[in-house]
Amino acid sequence: MKIKLLPSTIDANGQASPEQRLSCFLIDGLVAIDAGSIAIGLTDAERGVVRDVIITHPHMDHIATLPIFVDDLFGFLNEPVRIHATEEVCEMVARDVFNGTVYPPFQNFNNGRTRVMDFAPFRVGEEFTVKHLRFTAVNVHHIVPTVGMVFTDGERTVALSSDTSSTEEFWELVNRERRLDALLIEASFPNFLGKLADTSGHFTPESLGLELRKLAHKDLDILAMHLKPSFRQQLIDELAALGLPRLSVMEPGREYSW
Ligand SMILES: [Zn+2]
Ligand SMILES: [Zn+2]
Repeated sequence: MKIKLLPSTIDANGQASPEQRLSCFLIDGLVAIDAGSIAIGLTDAERGVVRDVIITHPHMDHIATLPIFVDDLFGFLNEPVRIHATEEVCEMVARDVFNGTVYPPFQNFNNGRTRVMDFAPFRVGEEFTVKHLRFTAVNVHHIVPTVGMVFTDGERTVALSSDTSSTEEFWELVNRERRLDALLIEASFPNFLGKLADTSGHFTPESLGLELRKLAHKDLDILAMHLKPSFRQQLIDELAALGLPRLSVMEPGREYSW
């Protein structure tokens, strides 16, 4: 299984830089989890085939360029872009984004060949299939309805926390898996902002270190993501200080493979 965190920041030379300001993970070049940078981070080839987007929660850093992505494809689609999310999050995205004011209600539009965008709700705790991948999502602990998930191609299995602070159901889901190849886990704020992290539903390296005691699996790659860009180096140092051998910071633009 191949996973890429799409870049979302451009440096002074016009090159993608390592800070992560938006969240969008591309799985096997085909399925996106979250859509923060989906309109700006995909290659043309990827844009030509990605039609399924799973949304973990409606925060702007996770949906920012979703409307632009659908807009770009409008005239070319032969099948709708499918937005997979809980019913509640589908309703929020329709109400607050594709509402005719912030952006057109693409869920109501047809380009002459196909509907342009469909909401495809899933239920937490129930497995659902998107392309060749099987997903199970559960609620995590953030300030809006948010899911973390486990997904598999039948051979490799990966867990992704999305945005969360200390949580239980996610670890029950993760620990139920027979094997786990990688865990993508958030680490948003440096340790000195522990209180802010807690009230905004995020981890610091310190609280993540405690949380990882709930992980039953050993011998897997742990990739920290969602590092606040202004504290990136401090977070890298604090994560390294946890001394966990296979914990590293996920690099935008790099293709990881398991
Ligand atoms: Zn969030
Ligand atoms: Zn976020």
